[in-house]
Amino acid sequence: MSTDRLTDVSEAGKKAINSISNIKLYIDGSFVDAESKKTFDNISPFTNEKINTVASGDEADIAKAVKAARKAYKGEWGNMKMKDRLTYIYKIADLIDEHIDEIAPLESYDTGLPISQTKKMVARAANNFRFYAEMVSARLVGEVYQVDDEFLNYTVQKPVGIAGLITPWNAPFMLETWKIAPALATGNTVVLKPAELSPLTANRLAEIIDKAELPDGVFNVVHGYGETAGASLVANPDVELISFTGETTTGSEIMKNGADSLKRFSMELGGKSPIIVFEDADVDRALDACTWGIFSFNGERCTANSRLYLHESIAESFIENLKDRVANIRVGDPMRADTQVGPLIHTDHYNNVKSYIELAKEEGCEVISGNIPGELNRGNYVAPTILLNAKNNMRIVQEEIFGPVIAVMTFKDEAEVIELANDVRYGLAGYVWTKDMQRGHRVAHAIDSGMLWVNSQNVRDLRTPFGGSKHSGIGREGGHYAFDFYTETKIIHVAMGDHHIPQFGKK
Ligand code: NAD
Repeated sequence: MSTDRLTDVSEAGKKAINSISNIKLYIDGSFVDAESKKTFDNISPFTNEKINTVASGDEADIAKAVKAARKAYKGEWGNMKMKDRLTYIYKIADLIDEHIDEIAPLESYDTGLPISQTKKMVARAANNFRFYAEMVSARLVGEVYQVDDEFLNYTVQKPVGIAGLITPWNAPFMLETWKIAPALATGNTVVLKPAELSPLTANRLAEIIDKAELPDGVFNVVHGYGETAGASLVANPDVELISFTGETTTGSEIMKNGADSLKRFSMELGGKSPIIVFEDADVDRALDACTWGIFSFNGERCTANSRLYLHESIAESFIENLKDRVANIRVGDPMRADTQVGPLIHTDHYNNVKSYIELAKEEGCEVISGNIPGELNRGNYVAPTILLNAKNNMRIVQEEIFGPVIAVMTFKDEAEVIELANDVRYGLAGYVWTKDMQRGHRVAHAIDSGMLWVNSQNVRDLRTPFGGSKHSGIGREGGHYAFDFYTETKIIHVAMGDHHIPQFGKK
């Protein structure tokens, strides 16, 4: 690989990239080949050349991982004192922090996400572990219901068992840890099936967790395709829960396939989130937030504001400024510090996003695109794109494109824009810009979505619930909300006195 690609990368990052080797599965504390010995190629989004090969797990490997996870759950991990368990969780966080300089470049190299953005995502990953260690010690508590002096009824939170975690490629390391941290901290054992398109940092995480010396089988990684490794994890009767993040259609297929074994599901699915800018908004800040919200992470962002609704009185000037931004966004090598938009993950996804841009033209939109420097012609680059004159009934407004593409519409009044914003099957996030705070609250309440931001970009507070409504998801992750999913609430009733017991058959 040409070394000048890595001039902005730390020494640790360069070393990590230059020593990428073939990846194995991590099962029962060991790195192993797939039982079938099959592998698949991992491809660079920047060059479309092979990076390395990855062991391709299937049903047999999932069965092995689940067996190891069960043994650990019944054994050392399941019987460990909370304090000792959380010591491991803090250790993982510390080790991630120590290796940030390697993990972020690996993630950019694998996914095409710009290095300046993966650095922040990876830092969040260490926080996910620390946060859940703190949450478990402070908030994993039961409740007591006293019934006079007759009963003391109390709840306890027990781990569910084996957590099957299935994750996407768009922010792989951060999203994996967002599930692993609460699953392990609450006492479950884990089998992770990471996205086949982004295996590098999932493997690095396995190496880090191996270094943290968790008991064998507590954490397992089975790489492989969704239809084989993923589907086997979902169907395995010994896996008690599936936490899934990915496309809505995959989510519904997973729920069907897991129905026979009566699993519990957490579903974090697709989005088509609106950003609404009223005439009284701070338009400069709204423009910053809008541009970042759709073009960061290459537009491959579940909470991206992909539908822009502008009040008609400010639309013209807002659109001119947005065009200016799009013309100046720096599209480049994801390994360069100043790159703002990199290549999409895979040629299939590139073709899909491109086909939506063609569709927009057919549907009657004016398409405004930024520039892609000529030297990037081997990568999966889609220029930041604005679709003007969009209408709510167009497919490009109704369907998730998952690329750097924003559809722009105008509105006359509050009632109209609420109706337009709600007229999609998704309900993940929404953004409202207005200086009238009564209206801000009102519109935030009226939009059907799991998460709303008023006069703000997508700033996360880890204590708050994360998740979508409608076809964007089922359940909430984040804060203590994750406990509802990763633990079983058990009620214990204790009689303190001689309450009445019917005496059937007594003479
Ligand atoms: P995807 O659904 O194609 O794949 C996600 C994961 O599911 C991968 O690991 C894949 O191998 C696996 N999978 C695929 N088919 C499977 C099956 N039949 N059984 C079990 N597992 C299977 O999604 P993607 O393309 O990797 O990710 C992009 C999608 O994820 C977008 O729709 C995006 O909005 C969504 N997403 C949602 C959130 C959220 O929090 N709501 C966050 C990030 C991404």
